[in-house]
Amino acid sequence: MFVQPNVTSKITIIGAGLVGSLLGIYLARRDYKVEIFERRKDPRALRALGKVGEGRSINLAISARGLNALEQVGLKDEVLKSAIPMTGRMMHGVDGALTRQAYGQSDADCINSISRGWLNCFLLDEAEKHPNVTLHFEKKIENVNLEQRSFTLIESDTHKERKLFYEVLLGTDGSASHVRKALQEQSQMQHDEVELSHGYKEFVMAEDAAGKFKMEKQALHIWPRGDFMMIALPNLDGSYTCTLFMRNAGTETSFEKLTEHYQVREFFKKNFPDFADLVPDYVEQYFTHPTGKMVTLKCSPWSHKKGQVLLLGDAAHAIVPFFGQGMNAGFEDVVALESLLNSVQPWPMVFEKFFNLRKANTDAIADMAVENFTEMSAKTADPHFLYQKKLEKILQDQFPQDYKSRYGMVSFSLVPYSLAYEAGVVQAQILDKLTKDYYPSTEIDMEKAHAMIREKLKPVMEKIDSVMKG
Ligand code: FAD
Repeated sequence: MFVQPNVTSKITIIGAGLVGSLLGIYLARRDYKVEIFERRKDPRALRALGKVGEGRSINLAISARGLNALEQVGLKDEVLKSAIPMTGRMMHGVDGALTRQAYGQSDADCINSISRGWLNCFLLDEAEKHPNVTLHFEKKIENVNLEQRSFTLIESDTHKERKLFYEVLLGTDGSASHVRKALQEQSQMQHDEVELSHGYKEFVMAEDAAGKFKMEKQALHIWPRGDFMMIALPNLDGSYTCTLFMRNAGTETSFEKLTEHYQVREFFKKNFPDFADLVPDYVEQYFTHPTGKMVTLKCSPWSHKKGQVLLLGDAAHAIVPFFGQGMNAGFEDVVALESLLNSVQPWPMVFEKFFNLRKANTDAIADMAVENFTEMSAKTADPHFLYQKKLEKILQDQFPQDYKSRYGMVSFSLVPYSLAYEAGVVQAQILDKLTKDYYPSTEIDMEKAHAMIREKLKPVMEKIDSVMKG
């Protein structure tokens, strides 16, 4: 390991969330001196009280990109021990009928449900093991001044303020980033933030009386209802974290309209009858749990030359959660930044290259995540779509070199998001054409299908092959 003789060896990270704590580990291993400032209490203090993870999504799905980032620093196996593999989607019809759709070609193609709080604590423990890392909790950062390379640190308990100077500042302070705000106010940053018209509310489905899971464990459960949906991911203790995604306002089925106990009861009995049985206190949870909002944030550039500042993770590219990729993309940022530190170059150049490497990809996953809401909430209840998915599986089985699904490329590979996006557009055209001609017959002309794949998809697959070979 060598220290980049890059004027500096001291790095300040704002935000000790998932991305900030992993970034600290990566940089400390390169012998940089890393200081991380976090406005919240140390979540590890809450761990003993069983309160870690309260407030935000309790669990999340980690897949190939996130696991690859952990593997580079020897942490993947330990994390997987605390995760539950989900090998497919389980759709719950209004009549209680269950339909399973595998995510990939085998059970090895899975996404993994993990506790957000556990993962954050684990990464903080690992970061702190390194003598180069110093963690500061309950320290809020404001007033980042790019000219002076300074910021104000506010102590949470005393509200005392101090002005500190930095050499290099990395902003991993999430979607409402203060570091980004400084870039917006003090540089020419373009900034586009779109709040989704849907919000979300979490419910806990407790384990049964014997401490067992009430539904199939190795699946991501979906109650697709068109414009709204419920999903559930398993937790190690036998419970599920369930999330209702619904419009904030403007329709009868919206958080704005469901304000009375009887309305919530009627809504659940009508739309999620099995759920109401599985979570008997759902009405109480509805009124006591907060409604969260979701944004897609695209901004450019992510750095400031003179200020020696860079944004990573949600601070640079917050996305809606429907592809389960926000954290995964943030972890991939960390790997990308690390790869650029192998050659000696000034920080502003590293930051510019990082942006060029990542921007098209994070824009692509942002768009795919928005699109995936419709896939999850509406299409998974559509027999034609399920038929297309079955066909896609057959095409992958028969032509493994020529056809790899977009979902698989995003979740089970490191294919750049932008190329997975491009391939997905072509694949949708192929599937539409094939199923338009043949649906509902199962007799697809495989020769014709292969010819179409070779003609339309091959150029994109060749591009992907050449990028992956590197
Ligand atoms: P954050 O996790 O937001 O961390 C930012 C940190 O900075 C926080 O600890 C915060 O307290 C701190 N901070 C903020 N401001 C300051 C300040 N001024 N001073 C000091 N500290 C500050 N992603 C997936 O990959 N898979 C999923 O399945 C998935 N599911 C999701 C479900 C939901 C409902 C939501 C909302 C998100 C989901 N995500 C998922 C996205 C994922 O949560 C985020 O992408 C990820 O948390 C981003 O990590 P981060 O470290 O960049 O930001």
